[in-house]
Amino acid sequence: MAKCDVAIVGAGPYGLSAAAHLRAANGLDIRVFGEPMSFWERHMPKGMLLRSPLAGSHLSDPSRSLTLQAYQKKSGKQVTAPLPLYRFTDYGRWFQSQAVPDLDCRKVSLVEKNGTGFQLTLEDGESWKARRVIVAAGIVPFAWHPPEFSYLPFTLASHACEHCDLSRFAGKRVAVIGGGQSALESAALLNETGAEVEVLVRAPFVRWLWRQKWFHTFRPVARLLYAPPDVGQAGLSHIVARPNVFRRLPRSLQDRWGKRAIRAAGAAWLNPRCAPIRISTGTSVVSASPVAEQVVLKLSDGTERRVDHVLLATGYRVDVSRYPFLSGRMLESMRRINGYPQLDSGFQTSIPGLHFLGAPAAWSFGPLMRFVAGAEFASLAVTRGILGNRNSKRSS
Ligand SMILES: Cc1cc2nc3c(=O)[nH]c(=O)nc-3n(C[C@H](O)[C@H](O)[C@H](O)COP(=O)(O)OP(=O)(O)OC[C@H]3O[C@@H](n4cnc5c(N)ncnc54)[C@H](O)[C@@H]3O)c2cc1C
Repeated sequence: MAKCDVAIVGAGPYGLSAAAHLRAANGLDIRVFGEPMSFWERHMPKGMLLRSPLAGSHLSDPSRSLTLQAYQKKSGKQVTAPLPLYRFTDYGRWFQSQAVPDLDCRKVSLVEKNGTGFQLTLEDGESWKARRVIVAAGIVPFAWHPPEFSYLPFTLASHACEHCDLSRFAGKRVAVIGGGQSALESAALLNETGAEVEVLVRAPFVRWLWRQKWFHTFRPVARLLYAPPDVGQAGLSHIVARPNVFRRLPRSLQDRWGKRAIRAAGAAWLNPRCAPIRISTGTSVVSASPVAEQVVLKLSDGTERRVDHVLLATGYRVDVSRYPFLSGRMLESMRRINGYPQLDSGFQTSIPGLHFLGAPAAWSFGPLMRFVAGAEFASLAVTRGILGNRNSKRSS
């Protein structure tokens, strides 16, 4: 059986950044499994623009030589804000080619405990032994399908993450459920592709990030109010950007501020593109029934809609037991809270040697872990946790 010191499951921003840091620390055999940037390529819509600012969209390497600016300089490809999805995925693939050229694109189908370490089974049946495992496998299994829609087939209702090209809905009537960036941007893209769209928002109004735009125009004020990753409202943004501060707050405050930092909102630049779209606020879907080849939606305001498709931009709910590759035994013995693993300062679970990065780390380290911008903090911390302080050059 092949062996390595650390196996990383997932080659998105977190897996690749962690690999870059661990590799630079030397002396350990690190293997990374999975297709690079596949969530961004296969589960986000063509034409999308990133909501995060450029400063919050770098993958992380220890010498900061693989930033977006370095990519622009080396490749000659323009990096503009807001950053187009295709440019970001190209950047991610370039980062991978520099930091993890020996990436193993096979999927991991099982991770189980094996003595003091772990055994991984790959999709083709090959087995690997690893002393440690870092799970950086993203959020696809956590896509939230509200129960009202659970009886509808995929042809009538699907989650936003199940599409990478919304042009298939050209000429159709589509109801988009949700009031966040994903719902509003999907609606804009659907409208631009020739679909007839309505957005149904449960909240009484759509929150646009106008204030942020204003503050960002005045740099000195902006610096005082917002940390560069730009996650969370004015002021709160600085606490969110420091996960070691955030995690020491009383739990009730972490929960309240964590929710507030990621509440549904649309980027200001999206607002004019949504102007031609009907957005109904303060209403929710009570029932959804298939009728002929369409769906009839009964709404809480007493009205009805008949559409060809319902697009659920209803977000993600972390529950690591939904990762299909984690053995039931490991899950049983892992300390978890509301689906999140409880992590120590090195992102390690209650099972020694098993680490989680990305959104599953948000209960322990706050909302920054849901964004690319959290990859630097997480990579430094996991490297410190594995190697001790000697090789980590910067601290957050
Ligand atoms: C519509 C949308 C827009 C977003 N926009 C932004 C934004 O503008 N800025 C931002 O910072 N964040 C944004 N996010 C959040 C974004 O998803 C995270 O910031 C980012 O993907 C986290 O990186 P990750 O490495 O944890 O996960 P991912 O990028 O999902 O990478 C995980 C990787 O693991 C792989 N994997 C899963 N299972 C296995 C397995 N069994 N074996 C091998 N590999 C496996 C997957 O294929 C995937 O490539 C957005 C999310 C959505 C849904």
